Amino acid sequence: MYKTFLIKYAEIAIKGKNRYIFEDALVKNIKYQLRNVDGSFEVRKESGRVYVETDGDYDYDETVATLSRIFGIVGICPVELHEDEGFDKLCEAVIEHINHVYKDKSFTFKVNARRARKNYPMTSMEINAAVGEKVLEAFPETRVDVHNPQVMINIEIRPMINIYSEEIPGPGGMPLGTAGKAMLLLSGGIDSPVAGWMIAKRGVRLVPVHFFSFPYTSELAKEKVLSLAKELTAYTGRMTLQIVPFTHIQEEIRRACPEEYFTLIMRRFMMRIAEDIAAHNECKAIVTGENLGQVASQTMEAMACTQDVTHLPVLQPLIGMDKRDIVKIAREIGTFDTSILPYEDCCTVFTPRHPKTRPTVAEVAEAESALDIDALVHEAVDGIERIRIDL
Ligand code: ATP
Ligand code: MG
Repeated sequence: MYKTFLIKYAEIAIKGKNRYIFEDALVKNIKYQLRNVDGSFEVRKESGRVYVETDGDYDYDETVATLSRIFGIVGICPVELHEDEGFDKLCEAVIEHINHVYKDKSFTFKVNARRARKNYPMTSMEINAAVGEKVLEAFPETRVDVHNPQVMINIEIRPMINIYSEEIPGPGGMPLGTAGKAMLLLSGGIDSPVAGWMIAKRGVRLVPVHFFSFPYTSELAKEKVLSLAKELTAYTGRMTLQIVPFTHIQEEIRRACPEEYFTLIMRRFMMRIAEDIAAHNECKAIVTGENLGQVASQTMEAMACTQDVTHLPVLQPLIGMDKRDIVKIAREIGTFDTSILPYEDCCTVFTPRHPKTRPTVAEVAEAESALDIDALVHEAVDGIERIRIDL
């Protein structure tokens, strides 16, 4: 049983002087996400490495699963740490490692030594050759393959000797919090949770907002959004979901505006309200699950109308993706099954029979001109319900 994990991070290692900011965020996020895992963990940073140390019993699978959801991590290596007690001891440790980890020894391997501590009496090349020989001697079924080995035996000479040969892939991306905060427009559909996940993966913390049209949409629809937000917290950490009462706005739109513009006017309200909430939450962008051409409100002309009412950048990470690729991610991150539950959302209830597909900004502005927009926005913002969501 391993006591330590070596955490590899690539993208963040190239950030020059800001590197410590990224490492510190990564360490903090790892500590936070591991707090729910059985076991006691210490996370520390040591010359360009992050180590997760366990103390006593812990749940290996759950630990690895949790680490593999933390943005910024590219590899999770269960590692053995040994005091430097000379080269012979090092070889013994490697042999023991192989003996423990690999039942079947008929594999090809390569030894990959690195010296972070240059005062070690052998060069990396010498270590590779000498350890390789010892492994071949101990396990005659093994073969060396320096180009395409099945097993890479890594030996790193640091203050301690690090031995590891397994690397479980992490999600990559950037540690949460290193790229600021954004509003996520979270519906109950397949797309917006995936959009949120993709932006969070770039290091952005999310403030999810849902527009709720009770009683046109039921409590179950709200529960569904709560579940989706909860599923996202496995990646995003805790979030505060903002439930915006949207019924009055939708009724007003239906009462006072031409039907073909309903969806667009509604989406403009969503943007205005999101921008208002953003200002109070230090959010610098609005994330949506829009996908070019998927529905009438997702043409370029329609998006021009929607985005016209906000100064914030509208991030649409799914814009050019195929649906099946979006679905694939939704399945991988665990939101798909919830997304396909059959509760209506506020858009479907008020969908016009013949939506305008090539609207202009001026037309939409005219179509909504009978409404007291500011008053409706303020009323909605005043009625927001905030729900803290955590794993
Ligand atoms: P999704 O699968 O995310 O519901 P969609 O393909 O159904 O997206 P639309 O209904 O046009 O697309 O909505 C586009 C985007 O607007 C959504 O991806 C989401 O970001 C946002 N949105 C739509 N309805 C709501 C809502 N009730 N609350 C919050 N955001 C919403
Ligand atoms: Mg939808």
